[in-house]
Amino acid sequence: MNTTTEKSNTGLLIIGASQAGVQLAGSLRALGYEPPITLLGEEDHRPYQRPALSKDFLQGAVDSESLIFRTAEYWEEHRIRLVKGERITVIDRESDGSGVATAASGARFPFDRLALTVGARARHLDLEGSELSGVVYLRNADDALALKALMPGATDVVVIGGGFIGLEAAASALKMGKRVTVLEAGPRLVGRAVGPETSEFFLDAHRRRGLDIELDAQIAAVEGVHGAVTAVRMADGRVIAAQIVLVGIGVIPNVELAQSLGLLCDNGIRVDEYALASDGVTVAVGDCANMPNPVPGAAAGDRIRIESVNNAIEHAKVAAYSLTGRRSEYAGIPWFWSNQADLKLQIAGLSTGYDHTVVRRDDAKGKFSVLYYRSGQIIAADCVNHPLDFMAVKNALAKRGNIPADLAAEPATALKTITTAA
Ligand SMILES: Cc1cc2nc3c(=O)[nH]c(=O)nc-3n(C[C@H](O)[C@H](O)[C@H](O)COP(=O)(O)OP(=O)(O)OC[C@H]3O[C@@H](n4cnc5c(N)ncnc54)[C@H](O)[C@@H]3O)c2cc1C
Repeated sequence: MNTTTEKSNTGLLIIGASQAGVQLAGSLRALGYEPPITLLGEEDHRPYQRPALSKDFLQGAVDSESLIFRTAEYWEEHRIRLVKGERITVIDRESDGSGVATAASGARFPFDRLALTVGARARHLDLEGSELSGVVYLRNADDALALKALMPGATDVVVIGGGFIGLEAAASALKMGKRVTVLEAGPRLVGRAVGPETSEFFLDAHRRRGLDIELDAQIAAVEGVHGAVTAVRMADGRVIAAQIVLVGIGVIPNVELAQSLGLLCDNGIRVDEYALASDGVTVAVGDCANMPNPVPGAAAGDRIRIESVNNAIEHAKVAAYSLTGRRSEYAGIPWFWSNQADLKLQIAGLSTGYDHTVVRRDDAKGKFSVLYYRSGQIIAADCVNHPLDFMAVKNALAKRGNIPADLAAEPATALKTITTAA
């Protein structure tokens, strides 16, 4: 297709108007990027923050307005054209990287340069009965609004999946007075992201707060009457009542547009350390991107796709530099948080490949930390209600320092006092 007639200084098109896209547009303007910027997303809402959807927003503690990223004036002041409610389905591109993106509505968006901040979508349940009404997911604002609307009519909630989203939503539902059962197919909670000690801590803590949690859960089907869910049937024949079944079994990165452009994809859109995809001109950022492990000292060739707010922000800053013709590598240490009832988890670093752990717990104060080591070097920590441990580990990692495991084993010792320099 000849797109040249539509193009005259069309600037940058950012597809995906969420955490990564909003940050990318803002960082570009902060770096003095002058070309036009179009920030386009398929959702009808103004760009908003997702974390509260499973926590305060679901519980009714904050309203939707408080989730909105920027004021209406911000976009105008920063000369960012915000387009809502347009889903890009086709991208035609020329050899110089410019092209036209076409939405499902038929609207066309020409561009000189392209950024993909398309995120990820909820993995769907593949079980008999999963199409029943009341079987819901929690990825976006519409999902959260639908779930909120169902809550008053439910006494029993089953959460399928004991990962972060599932546990956060389960804790919220419990706080809203529901009977809540969490069904986790694996042998422990949050198995992909934390070590066994942290999984065990959450299992015990959530059970004591009133969640019914089943590990190694084998679900046979979701049951319903007149099209609406009524229960989950287990493989052993037990039936667990549910008027809501919330499925939180992970996400799938949105790689289809990238694939249509011939970009390499492998658990996300493959990018280099400068957030550039395999064509060397398109940037891909945030949940949709598979990037070199950014932690200092990570093994060469180690790659990772990180699903977190902090990563979307830091990764977008890297991409902004690339789009302005400069180079900047990922700054800081990946970190993450998850609030589950009164349990405030903060994770510093990435624990993959650890060979030793140190557990620090103070049950009287409700504090719990696990420090992860590889060959005697600290690489990460999970800290529950322990911001001082979290900050100490994050700072040590940023400075490439260490926290000797033998000294850290004494829970009363402040980690920052035993941190050694690089
Ligand atoms: C319920 C929930 C709770 C969370 N809690 C936490 C937390 O406590 N801490 C934390 O660090 N992280 C949390 N996260 C994760 C965090 O929100 C994500 O890592 C972050 O939103 C990633 O941002 P992103 O911009 O890369 O992708 P996304 O937020 O997924 O945004 C991608 C956007 O692109 C749009 N899009 C996709 N394809 C197209 C297309 N073809 N055309 C137009 N638009 C398109 C999507 O609709 C979406 O709006 C949570 C996520 C959820 C869902």
